Amino acid sequence: MADNDRPKRPLPKFSKRVLEPEDDERQAWPSFLEAPEGQERNPHLQKTRRGPTPTVAPRGDKITYTEGEFDRIVISYYDLLGNLSPNAKAAVQADPEKYLAILLHGGGRAFLLTHPLAAKTVQQNIIDLQIASVSDAEAGPEFMSAVRVHFPEACFNHDSREWYDKPWTIPAEGVTDAARHFLLWQQTFAFSKDSAWHVVPFDRDLMPWLITTVSGSAIDDGSLSKTELLRRIKCMLVEDSMFLNMCDRHLAAQGVAGSVRSRTIKALSTFNLTPVEFTNTRANRETVMVLTGEPITHDKDDHFAWLRLIRSKNYTVGFDTVVTGRRWDPCAGCKSELHPVDECSFAKTFGWFGPSADDMKHMVVTAKSSMRKDDAPTKKPQQRTGRGGNPSDRPQGRGARRGKA
Ligand SMILES: [Zn+2]
Repeated sequence: MADNDRPKRPLPKFSKRVLEPEDDERQAWPSFLEAPEGQERNPHLQKTRRGPTPTVAPRGDKITYTEGEFDRIVISYYDLLGNLSPNAKAAVQADPEKYLAILLHGGGRAFLLTHPLAAKTVQQNIIDLQIASVSDAEAGPEFMSAVRVHFPEACFNHDSREWYDKPWTIPAEGVTDAARHFLLWQQTFAFSKDSAWHVVPFDRDLMPWLITTVSGSAIDDGSLSKTELLRRIKCMLVEDSMFLNMCDRHLAAQGVAGSVRSRTIKALSTFNLTPVEFTNTRANRETVMVLTGEPITHDKDDHFAWLRLIRSKNYTVGFDTVVTGRRWDPCAGCKSELHPVDECSFAKTFGWFGPSADDMKHMVVTAKSSMRKDDAPTKKPQQRTGRGGNPSDRPQGRGARRGKA
């Protein structure tokens, strides 16, 4: 079954006429120096414990986890399903709300090989938490017996470069409504270095705001300001009739009133740049800018087309050319692509029982070493079952660093 099984929203008929801003509007594009808007909607900036406080809390007294508020884990529905076996994927697609997605902190193929009972551990953790309403508890200890956490089976064999690519979703089912509410509200449960995990829903409507990275020597040496770079990116995009057309069509379909110009300005208003410093492959510190912005559609294919358009441009600022899509190792812990593992907020949480940044880095080294020994079996022809589309068409972003989202 194709990933993109969401019914498409009806859009106005695509006009073959290229939409251009009216002459008087062309004069009136803003300077784009305003502060980014709508950042409160950016899921990457949100925290856990959103929404109503659960009415029940864990009753279990034989298990302790790190209390606190954490960064929200933002992984799209398609990426959560992206690497699951066809059977698991089909089951979740048939009834996404029946399942929860469990993501091991630091999880990946290497972690699962060294922790073959990881899924059973998570299942026992959930049972031991004893998140139960009064009626659940009165039903006796069997109330949690329906909890099932499935070991993640990948849909194809990984080659040596993909050990940490995917979050390796662990589907869980049979969780009571009360437990589900608490698990999703808290999201992150760190019990020990060998057991720390996050719970997220299979939510088709969650759209990551990550667009691309922007890099160049002028960014790295600090001579090109974030404001000037963002202004230039926006100015170049409004000169692209395809970009105007996309913003106009999709925002019009959402009922956003106005002209081509005003809809495009609205689409660009949420664009923002965040500097990220990381250690590159030459062991030097390097700074890139991460470009984020609110997606203009929930349709996967249309969203990817919009991303490709933004990423395909050659942005120039004065003498400086900057490039999009600089590749770097995203966080091996929480799998965020907005910070390197050294900057992971989870491991910096007071009282964190899960693996540290150093533990994560050590695991990467160990995994690569093990991988070399285990190289031959991992080089089998890949079974690309259920993974349609041209990998090069897939977005950069989670798991797409090597062109395989
Ligand atoms: Zn992280």
